[in-house]
Amino acid sequence: MKRLSIKMRVTLWYTGIMVLLSGLALAVLLSASNRYIQNNVKNRLEERVFSCLHEIKWDWEDGQLDIDDDLSVFQNEVWLGIYDRLGYPLFGQAPGNFPDGMVFKDGRQQVIREGGSVWHVYDRHLEVPGYGPVWIRGISSQTDSEEALTAISHIALVLFPFLAALAAVGGYLITKRAFLPVIQMSATARGISTGGDLSQRIGLVKGKDELYQLAGTFDEMLEQLERQFEKEKRFTSDVSHELRTPISVIISQCEYALEHAPEGSPESESLQSILEQSQRMARLVSQLLTLSRADCNTQQLQLETVNISELCEMVAQELEEAAAQKSISLELAVQPDVLIQADETMIMRLFINLISNAVSYGRTGGHIKVGLSSDEKGVKGYVKDDGIGIPEECLGHVWERFYQVNPSRTVEKGRGAGLGLSMVKWIVSAHGGSIRAESELGKGSCFSFEFPVL
Ligand code: ADP
Repeated sequence: MKRLSIKMRVTLWYTGIMVLLSGLALAVLLSASNRYIQNNVKNRLEERVFSCLHEIKWDWEDGQLDIDDDLSVFQNEVWLGIYDRLGYPLFGQAPGNFPDGMVFKDGRQQVIREGGSVWHVYDRHLEVPGYGPVWIRGISSQTDSEEALTAISHIALVLFPFLAALAAVGGYLITKRAFLPVIQMSATARGISTGGDLSQRIGLVKGKDELYQLAGTFDEMLEQLERQFEKEKRFTSDVSHELRTPISVIISQCEYALEHAPEGSPESESLQSILEQSQRMARLVSQLLTLSRADCNTQQLQLETVNISELCEMVAQELEEAAAQKSISLELAVQPDVLIQADETMIMRLFINLISNAVSYGRTGGHIKVGLSSDEKGVKGYVKDDGIGIPEECLGHVWERFYQVNPSRTVEKGRGAGLGLSMVKWIVSAHGGSIRAESELGKGSCFSFEFPVL
């Protein structure tokens, strides 16, 4: 079952508790006042009936029942009636609409509801010496207080659900408002984790409650993190930039020294090795610089109309020699003159990284196929090899910076440091495209990319 939100749970909880408590309080109140009124009526009736027990005698002289003249039929809101054993009235009367033929019950208070009226009846059996049994009946109609109590119960029953609903809605709105900072905090956190944009802030107006203070602290923390990240990005970018000149100097000096070193001598071998490593370092620094500039949003794309087919063929041609060293055949399935709006250097970098990876991780005597085509939706391409492949669990990570499936196999090839594919990924997304990798360990890999029509 889907878990309810905290807002909903808090609202349901306190509404339930509130309904229960107020229902209980109302029930106790109504029943206590009802009992109080019933007791009052009972006492009144009993008092009245008892008071006339001594007023009824048998007059031996006249041979008839003697009822005191002072006895009044209606007094203290009680109607008094005296009846013979068969229920025939001897004195007094019942109220006009009191139902006929009501059974007498000695010493018991009865409540009769008839035609919208409510009657309390109290009967007493009296044995009059000389005459025999008589019934004394006291009748009291519903009192004002009882009517008020009934009215209050009716009003409470109607109002209660309304008040409960009002409290639930009001409470929900207050809880929702109270949780607003939490919703904004999670939206900001989600925005940062999906978009990686650390400049986002929760931005709540300063409030006194704990959540507003937390949001403020969260913003301060983001501020510091952003500053720190910016510093780090700038640092990488500055370092890469500063390293470029000395590396270029090393390369040119090496090339110069190589020209003058005797061929095959140990000096020439050392110089060759320094040159290769410096060139590798230059490649690395250049990729690092591009990526860190991309992070700082300072890497501008020089968009122009590029003949991507020519570019692809040119890179393939450049790398043909490296492929031939491993007896790898390079097949091109390139649609001629495919044009896109792109940064030429970047697209060249993309082909270099993908094709040189295919050569490096390709099997000796293997085969590489490079394809390129365009339709009305955009440009599609792929670089496919039948080399060592990538294990399934590593496939998702190959785009991460400095990630290497198995550093030993890269070092063996004397290549990069795990920046090539992150660079490719950035280039593709900077041009609004997408790229994916498919691979099977021991069978080969295929990197396919797409660029939309710009
Ligand atoms: P590197 O410059 O170290 O090759 P990349 O970013 O280009 O780094 O590649 C990341 C990892 O992906 C490498 O360590 C390599 O093992 C793997 N990889 C890249 N391309 C291929 C491929 N065509 N075949 C097999 N593995 C590959």
